[in-house]
Amino acid sequence: MIVILFGPPGAGKGTQAQRLCDSLGLCKLSTGDLLRAEAASGSDLGRRVQTIMARGELVSDDIMIAMIRKKIAEERANNRGVVLDGFPRTIAQAEALDAMLDEEDLGVDAVIEMKVDDDTLVERIAGRYACAACGAGYHDSFKKPATANVCDQCGGTEFVRRADDSRETVRTRLDAYNRQTAPLLPYYREKGVLFSVDGMQSIDAVESQIQNVLKAEVKGLT
Ligand code: AMP
Repeated sequence: MIVILFGPPGAGKGTQAQRLCDSLGLCKLSTGDLLRAEAASGSDLGRRVQTIMARGELVSDDIMIAMIRKKIAEERANNRGVVLDGFPRTIAQAEALDAMLDEEDLGVDAVIEMKVDDDTLVERIAGRYACAACGAGYHDSFKKPATANVCDQCGGTEFVRRADDSRETVRTRLDAYNRQTAPLLPYYREKGVLFSVDGMQSIDAVESQIQNVLKAEVKGLT
């Protein structure tokens, strides 16, 4: 099964992708996470993508397509379904994904659009941070650790914020979404695989909307 979680930055794609991995045994491929790992490695490529990400712009299609091709091949070799978070983000990426799946007689089963209004996105992103040790996510207003400055999951006491989560960069990222990524909605609607959920609801409520869509629309899933 190939599922795409689709929506603007801050819509909750990463959180829901993780939930689908846990509940359905899918593998999560997050291009943002892959790029941040590349940047942290200090490689030449990492340095180049770090600059682009810090500006809130999109990394080139060539780099992204090569990166995802390698990862999908690895996961398909393990015969695992994939949930994509943050890919595709342009028409060229969507076409390249279709071509690589076609080679294996596969296709995208469902694209789940998570709808959230712009002001809420900015509030969500500007306040979010994560445990440096285990990656558990928190928010200044909506989800603080039970004990101040101690991670609920692992007891870690160091927390990190993404460099591109500032209010200014979020606006650039939203602009990139509206100009370059939103045009993918009609692309997938025409293929009959686009479904929308209300991303303004609680994490649990969004998860059950997604599960309901997948149960209704993906063959072999009950
Ligand atoms: P995300 O974690 O999905 O919000 O992605 C963080 C940043 O990584 C984005 O603002 C882009 O700079 C870059 N990025 C992630 N995925 C892609 C993609 N599919 N195409 C181009 N740039 C990407």
